[in-house]
Amino acid sequence: MSIIKVEEKLYQNRYIVDENRPHIYIKDAAVCEKECKTKPCTFCCPANCYTLDAGEVTLVTDGCLECGTCRVICQDLGNISWNYPRGGYGISYKFG
Ligand code: SF4
Repeated sequence: MSIIKVEEKLYQNRYIVDENRPHIYIKDAAVCEKECKTKPCTFCCPANCYTLDAGEVTLVTDGCLECGTCRVICQDLGNISWNYPRGGYGISYKFG
């Protein structure tokens, strides 16, 4: 039996980007920088959509799994606007 890494499984999915219409966005970057001490989105997102660079959180929704984790972990600050992508866009899972 061969062992398959999570990254290899994720690569099986297909993603259609809705250009210039991200379905998730950070409402106020200053809130992330000044009020969020631990920045959990940068290590809880399974698709690594959030990155931290010099204290600044950046979000790129390409490859988002639509799991809702970031929405939940940012609930206290409420600094993430979260919606599903428009019909025809976003993730298509490949099962098996
Ligand atoms: Fe990452 Fe899930 Fe949020 Fe998409 S919904 S950005 S996969 S945590």
